[in-house]
Amino acid sequence: MAKTESSLRFDTRLIHGGTSPGPSGATKSPIVQASAFAYDTAEELEDIFKGRAIGQVYTRIGNPTLESLEKRLAAIEGGIAAIATSSGMAAITTAVMAIVRSGDEILSSASLFGGTYSLFHDTLANYGISTRFVDPTDADALRGAVNENTRLIFVETIGNPKMDVPDLAIFSAIARENGIPLMVDATVSTPYLARVGELGADIIVHSTSKYINGTANSIGGAIIDCGSFNWQSDKFPHFDQFYRKYRNFALTARTRKLIHKDFGACAAPLNAFLNCEGLDTLSLRMERHCSNAMRVAQFLDAHEKVSWVNYPGLPDSPYFEVANRQFGGRFGGLLTFGVADKASAFRVINALSLAKNLANIGDTKTLVIHPASTICADYTPEVKALMGVGEELIRVSVGIEDIEDIIEDFAAALEQA
Ligand SMILES: *Cc1c(COP(=O)(O)O)cnc(C)c1O
Repeated sequence: MAKTESSLRFDTRLIHGGTSPGPSGATKSPIVQASAFAYDTAEELEDIFKGRAIGQVYTRIGNPTLESLEKRLAAIEGGIAAIATSSGMAAITTAVMAIVRSGDEILSSASLFGGTYSLFHDTLANYGISTRFVDPTDADALRGAVNENTRLIFVETIGNPKMDVPDLAIFSAIARENGIPLMVDATVSTPYLARVGELGADIIVHSTSKYINGTANSIGGAIIDCGSFNWQSDKFPHFDQFYRKYRNFALTARTRKLIHKDFGACAAPLNAFLNCEGLDTLSLRMERHCSNAMRVAQFLDAHEKVSWVNYPGLPDSPYFEVANRQFGGRFGGLLTFGVADKASAFRVINALSLAKNLANIGDTKTLVIHPASTICADYTPEVKALMGVGEELIRVSVGIEDIEDIIEDFAAALEQA
């Protein structure tokens, strides 16, 4: 007898979970590069618009190629539904705006991807939604920052570039105690390190542009609804009509029927297809990203010109214990290290030949960047300090090349440090 999908092991679920055969037995879901979908009768289209029948209407609302990515991501993460978006930032913006309203507060980890920090700190603040940023490793400070206006708790699995690993059990407990949903950005850990729904996330957001796509050929994002939050709550009266009709699918329904439809940040079919392709090899790539990153971390840690290395997999990392428990002894492909100062960091970056100097992570290629002068350049000195972005810091997204070549590249470049 065929196994049920949820009984499949993770690597098998990555490849088969949520898939269905394509036309003529195609082993791939087709790229449906169409904007709209025709029906024979006016009655059929009326039924779809009224919710009496299910069908595709217009690609901003839904498309079969997007649906294949959505079904696969939901199956892999153990969620009840997913929504594919045009980018990771689109996923975060759409998911957050589906939950909070003007006057509400977000309690967020202070260690955030730059785009998310700017969304919370600047953009949403202009719409009357304020955010409290708290050190994600300080449980008392987190608890103390919840108040009667808090409507969402937000955290990243591995802070970038701080490389801190918050204990999701603490975040989940605080969310449960207060009847507030927990949204987790799992881009850097990917489902390979942890299915964060099992660790207490109610909503998972991904930038699929990174490790899920894997080869840096298309931007995308996704929102996964774990179906675990009870939206029938005085705190969320705007969910009432959706809860009555859709029960634990209330968030997905409200997002699809209002926020996602209205903001329009839908994924492009070709990008959704390419992100699906990446899922097949996620485990294989992540295994190599993790083992290569560990070797690079150990090499840098022992190098006389390197003043410090921040990788959660190093036993002396303050985040080792939590990361080891949460991620089952795997620590991801990102690390940061410090040299003497900014000039030294620039000399090292300029002397690297294999590693590319660019603003991305999660590619098969090894990538570096100097965050203080680029992706974090707009931060005030206080925010830079809070986010752990010093002038001497270089971030590395370790690729899946031969480890000896990566280490030789850094060894040669560090001569210039
Ligand atoms: C890249 C990234 C995002 C934003 O994703 P885009 O696809 O670039 O919009 C969000 N969160 C994290 C942790 C990221 O690394």
